[in-house]
Amino acid sequence: MIDLRSDTLTRPTEAMREAMARAEVGDDVYGEDPTVLALQERVAGMFGHEAALFTPTGSMANVLAVASVVSPGEEVLCDSSAHIARAELGAHGAISGITMRTWTGERGQVDLAAIESMYAPDMGPFFVRTAAVSVENTHNFAGGTVLPIDDLRDLRAWADTTGTKLHLDGARLWNAHVATGTPLADYGRIADVLAVCLSKGLGAPIGSLMIGSADAIDLARVRRKRMGGGMRQVGVLAAAGAYALDHHVDRLADDHVHARLLGEALGLDPATVDTNIVVVDRPDAASFVAAAADEGVRIATVGPRAVRLVTHLDVTPADADRAAVVLSRLAAR
Ligand SMILES: *Cc1c(COP(=O)(O)O)cnc(C)c1O
Repeated sequence: MIDLRSDTLTRPTEAMREAMARAEVGDDVYGEDPTVLALQERVAGMFGHEAALFTPTGSMANVLAVASVVSPGEEVLCDSSAHIARAELGAHGAISGITMRTWTGERGQVDLAAIESMYAPDMGPFFVRTAAVSVENTHNFAGGTVLPIDDLRDLRAWADTTGTKLHLDGARLWNAHVATGTPLADYGRIADVLAVCLSKGLGAPIGSLMIGSADAIDLARVRRKRMGGGMRQVGVLAAAGAYALDHHVDRLADDHVHARLLGEALGLDPATVDTNIVVVDRPDAASFVAAAADEGVRIATVGPRAVRLVTHLDVTPADADRAAVVLSRLAAR
């Protein structure tokens, strides 16, 4: 089976497991796990922020990050297919008491005109106040699309004029960085608060980080514990993340080559495949996925007509070639 359902499916390599086995650890709730502390400091520095916090999941990093800039009863604006809106199971409402309004961006892009028209300043007892805008880069359900840094800078400039905060869901920001060459710190600079994942294309088994100011991270550390996310000798996981940052960032370019090949096999213009995700519109989505599985290629639906496939560390060039042959044959049927 060639498994293209998600880039979360990767298993830690032997070398990563060795790094995990060797990790120095301590109780991280006491702030005494040296491997976690080093990873947090390293990742904060990569994005030009003061501090970072290791979390078990990207969803938790997003919940903590958004709650650091939006208070209960306030709203965050985001794209209608954003992960925070679609795939975190209502956490921002259920846990943080936050509401959302959405714009629908072409290929998941920032629509500054829509944001400006939706923006609600504090008007006392009349309208929900817009506290923050959230953007996702790369954009998962839009098909791994990159949000260009110039658009993000324009959004930052607008946010500064209104006092609006910016949250960046950077679960796959590493892919955007590798695809465009934009420095991670440039992405960091446009956001007040970010979330990044080590468990997607980077191939760590578990782990994400929230990144922001020292004050925001102090508050998030308390909230993380309240949510049951205070972990103890978690340096074994942080070591996997550090190993991934050392060895698995540049190779994301290979995943992008494979995704372009698969996009082309499905009839897309390969130039529209920005990174490691391909989303294709198929009226027969469910039966197409079933037919692919019968031929040894696992892909997934992400909507009634949307088929998604994701390339990753465990997909070899030969796997990509074979999957392309199967998918192009099925697509032509
Ligand atoms: C995967 C993902 C997350 C976090 O997901 P977890 O499964 O909770 O780690 C957040 N945002 C995006 C865009 C994602 O793809």
